Amino acid sequence: MQGDQQSKSTAPTMQVGDEAVINITDMNKWYGQFHVLKDINLAVRRGERIVICGPSGSGKSTLIRCINRLEEHQKGSINVNGIELNSDLKNIDATRREVGMVFQHFNLFPHLTVLQNCTLAPIWVKKMPKKEAEEVAMQYLERVRIPEQANKFPGQLSGGQQQRVAIARSLCMNPKIMLFDEPTSALDPEMIKEVLDVMIELAHEGMTMICVTHEMGFAKTVANRVIFMDGGQIIEENEPEAFFNNPQSERTQLFLSQIL
Ligand code: ADP
Ligand code: MG
Repeated sequence: MQGDQQSKSTAPTMQVGDEAVINITDMNKWYGQFHVLKDINLAVRRGERIVICGPSGSGKSTLIRCINRLEEHQKGSINVNGIELNSDLKNIDATRREVGMVFQHFNLFPHLTVLQNCTLAPIWVKKMPKKEAEEVAMQYLERVRIPEQANKFPGQLSGGQQQRVAIARSLCMNPKIMLFDEPTSALDPEMIKEVLDVMIELAHEGMTMICVTHEMGFAKTVANRVIFMDGGQIIEENEPEAFFNNPQSERTQLFLSQIL
């Protein structure tokens, strides 16, 4: 599953394979006339933990939403796990089965219980028998440490608990890649850690992850690469130590001086 090549991370369990699981080449996207993503090139290998940061409006969400085709790109290519993302619906379906996504605002179904949120896609998309889907869901709810909330509705849970449900719900589809879009930005400070802890565990289990986050502590300890975006472009990328201690571009320096 994982290659021999050890990442530079201090954590011995977090290894990075040689194989690229996401390949983005000269990708451009426009919203109408607005050129939102400009010549994006990014290859992500299996087991990589990539943190994307950058000012608001720089295109971070748009970029990761393009990776599971929640947004469409107009130029260049995006290949996920060997599947080319284009208008072919079969490819889009296949990609979404492999790529889990966690949003800032959880996006749980409010009228379904926690358990039903977690079993919906396995039952309807994967055609998993209900009982098996419930067993799988309970395993993941235990992993994110909220099995006792299974029969509650999202509105009865704290923000941190809801976000852990959202992570468990994604994991129920057994994704190969997880995308996180500012998963802790909507949380009260005391709940940030319980969500980050779950993400850290996932990283240690070898999950390939792309996380848009401004949690720089997470970036320093978990990421093997940090990417800085501004104005729809990847301005700079590096290993965390070099990125934080020796940022090259003035825009990166300015951004870091504002958030650190
Ligand atoms: P970030 O996540 O870095 O804050 P976004 O990817 O959300 O940035 O947005 C990048 C730019 O694209 C912003 O200027 C934003 O206003 C614009 N934008 C985002 N979504 C849309 C949309 N659906 N239609 C038009 N413009 C959009
Ligand atoms: Mg965003």
